[in-house]
Amino acid sequence: MTAHDPSLHRKPGGLLGWLGFGKGDRADGSAPTAEARPELRGSLRLQQLEDVARFLAAHQLEVNAASLAAGWSYLAGANRDLVRAIDRRIRAREPLTQAWLEEQLGTRDSDQDLATLADLMRRLEASIDEFGKTSHDAHRATSDYHTALEGHVGELEQVTRAGEVISDLANIAKVMLKRTREIEKQMLRSEAQTRALRRRLDEARRSAEEDHLTGLPNRRAFEARFAEEYRDARAAADQLCVAFCDIDHFKRINDEHGHDAGDRVLKLVADCLARLSDDKCHVARHGGEEFVVLLRGTSVEEASVRLEALRAGLAERRLVNRANDRPFGQVTFSAGIADVFTCSDPRSALRAADAALYRAKQDGRNRIALANAEDCETKQATAA
Ligand code: GH3
Ligand code: MG
Ligand code: MG
Repeated sequence: MTAHDPSLHRKPGGLLGWLGFGKGDRADGSAPTAEARPELRGSLRLQQLEDVARFLAAHQLEVNAASLAAGWSYLAGANRDLVRAIDRRIRAREPLTQAWLEEQLGTRDSDQDLATLADLMRRLEASIDEFGKTSHDAHRATSDYHTALEGHVGELEQVTRAGEVISDLANIAKVMLKRTREIEKQMLRSEAQTRALRRRLDEARRSAEEDHLTGLPNRRAFEARFAEEYRDARAAADQLCVAFCDIDHFKRINDEHGHDAGDRVLKLVADCLARLSDDKCHVARHGGEEFVVLLRGTSVEEASVRLEALRAGLAERRLVNRANDRPFGQVTFSAGIADVFTCSDPRSALRAADAALYRAKQDGRNRIALANAEDCETKQATAA
């Protein structure tokens, strides 16, 4: 059995399909529950385990937590990014190594961490705003009270006729005045602290949405931006294109020059792509050596011309490893571009761009390919 044996690819239909529940099992097409078919439970579990074991053996993977998790996620279709990455690798006839799988799972974990962090930040932000509003309101109320009290003290001091009683009242009012002044100061401090907290939160948010190596927005920030631009561009009937760019044979650069040199090349390509950035064009690091570009008000042809200029410019350069003066040789990238509104939604547009990128790689790399209508549909059908 080779790594390209069709039996190693996941069956379409996601988890239920993999578990063997076909759509015909029920009249309404829904999958029967394990309770409804208890006699199947044991044999299905065995079947699952056998499939995972076959997957690991066929790809010559060790049996450990990462490979089991990856095997299960892939066969069950539980992690769509992983399914996509593994399918691409199998199609490219590249081995699924342990290190590669761990890297894929690691990326997903950090994505999930970022999602959790973003959610926490949203809640923290709401609390800070609430606290800021409360302390601002309290400050105003104290300040109004203080002013009113000051008026009363003035009035009391002018009343001399009632003697002692009035002067006692005036003394009590003075103490109250002193207290309200202290409270007012405290409230002012609270407001300043709220503003400082808000600033720190904004900084933390910026840093959570930025890729630290390249300084570009990360995938999470890009996804949020894509959703926003998609909505606005559709409402304004603007064109919108998305491109996937991937450095060619980047692994070789790491293998031949080391990871630090690889990082510098990655940064250089990021800087090169970032030249496209303006208020209508957003460039982000999607992960690894892949970048995404979102172009608003631009046709695929125009987007292709702009990316082509960057591609050609980079391919002409002869980069040298500054650590030892050894040449990196030609550093190139391939790209796939999709017209977002020819696809059903942003995700399917990204998949279409990815399918075009895959063709660009197949056709020899260092080139740009345009997605066609089939790229949205076919990919969507396999991923469903
Ligand atoms: P292809 O032309 O098919 O895209 O080949 P490739 O070698 O670029 O693609 P592959 O997916 O085989 O390898 C990508 C490599 O990118 C493997 C991974 O270690 C490396 N990589 C991912 N992120 C980073 C990073 O932040 N820094 C460095 N130095 N390497 C990274
Ligand atoms: Mg890649
Ligand atoms: Mg690559």
